[in-house]
Amino acid sequence: MFDTVLIANRGEIALRVLRACRGLGLRVVMVHSEADKDAPYLALADQALCIGPAAPGQSYLNQPAILAAAAVSGAQAIHPGYGFLSENAGFVERVEQAGLTFIGPSSACIRVMGDKVSAKRAMRASGVPCVPGPDTSLPEDPAQVRRLAREIGYPVIVKAAGGGGGRGMRVVNDEAELLPALAVTREEAGRAFGNPEVYIEKFLLHPRHVEIQVLADRHGNAVWLGSRDCSLQRRHQKVIEEAPAPGIPQELLAQVGDSCAQACRRIGYSGVGTFEFLYENEAFYFIEMNTRLQVEHPVTELTSAIDIVQQQIRVARGEALPFTQADIACQGHAFECRINAEDPRTFRPSPGQITDWNVPGGWGVRVDSHARAGYRVPPYYDSMVAKLIVHGASRADALTRLRVALDEMRVEGIATNLPLHRELAADEGFVDGGVDIHYLERWLKERAAA
Ligand code: ADP
Repeated sequence: MFDTVLIANRGEIALRVLRACRGLGLRVVMVHSEADKDAPYLALADQALCIGPAAPGQSYLNQPAILAAAAVSGAQAIHPGYGFLSENAGFVERVEQAGLTFIGPSSACIRVMGDKVSAKRAMRASGVPCVPGPDTSLPEDPAQVRRLAREIGYPVIVKAAGGGGGRGMRVVNDEAELLPALAVTREEAGRAFGNPEVYIEKFLLHPRHVEIQVLADRHGNAVWLGSRDCSLQRRHQKVIEEAPAPGIPQELLAQVGDSCAQACRRIGYSGVGTFEFLYENEAFYFIEMNTRLQVEHPVTELTSAIDIVQQQIRVARGEALPFTQADIACQGHAFECRINAEDPRTFRPSPGQITDWNVPGGWGVRVDSHARAGYRVPPYYDSMVAKLIVHGASRADALTRLRVALDEMRVEGIATNLPLHRELAADEGFVDGGVDIHYLERWLKERAAA
């Protein structure tokens, strides 16, 4: 049982985690880079320690520095936030070996889910629906590879087992492209991920991105907290998320959700996690599991009325989940806009000092942000400066609230993508709901051409 948590992250998520810790009466140690030394949220911690220069490799990814900070501050647990070291099984092992609690799943679970082939195998064995294709890596023999692809049917996608961040994938439209694509992806995977293993699966043409939030304790209990739709993406980066995913038959959703909770129990998963699916023609296809807190967790918090971060910390402390699946009821609809410091047309990052900061409020409006007037957005990290989250009784109600809130929000001194969000919130396709993962890129292209 721990009473002091070290938060190994920065920005809005560091503040989000601090708030959850405070709610549980825990002491908080924050670590920061030299570039973040003036971040306003550091003043809220019991102790703040500088762990290195601005470059993430020397600070937020600097494992020895973070472990040393835990040792000198007396922190007994580490919360990784998202990104950085949150899915690094090697780091989790070091935390475990140091006798500290990692607020997340075991290193063994992260390792299984971090390899896309072993993840797919584990999911299929648990009854989670997967993309058609073998759950083993591809053999060397070209004839065998060709036969496998033919069995699946073109187009197929070649993916690196160790891939991530949208890299290490190649779409193959016909047999002539297969072996060259395979060779390039293998080579790239070996170089970028240190693992040349690749596999193939069916390439879906117009899927939506639908995900399931899970929460599991260390006593074998696991629940799912509803669905999210994150199809509005640019270059695999989510722009707007919502909960629940609209237009999905309740029975089908319950079936998939139950299979995710079942998979957690089967692999001994604990903590929060997200099962990501492609959804096409009323069918779910598992693509990967994120073994950490997600940026978009607030839309699920607003619809489930469960503080996901607080529950994550509670289960890391060894507590049993205080509810069962039957207690979970999702209410209304929520949206989240990621407000980035970037040009709304060119998407070029726009770091610098915020001169004016006016965030919306009122019923059903939540803003998660570490920024304020006078805050300087550093150029070294992710450009997200705020998450605007709204909740309404229905999807239409939430959309209206989103538009009002976006109109109210004002950020000066840096460029932000607020104008893009305002346009999207009024876009007919988005308003109708259920757009596919290519919608936003198509929309941007059309807008540029107009
Ligand atoms: P990463 O770990 O790099 O994010 P994912 O396996 O989650 O990789 O895939 C990233 C994205 O690539 C998906 O969100 C989807 O847009 C696309 N993708 C992956 N697999 C398929 C598939 N079988 N069919 C169609 N698109 C796919």
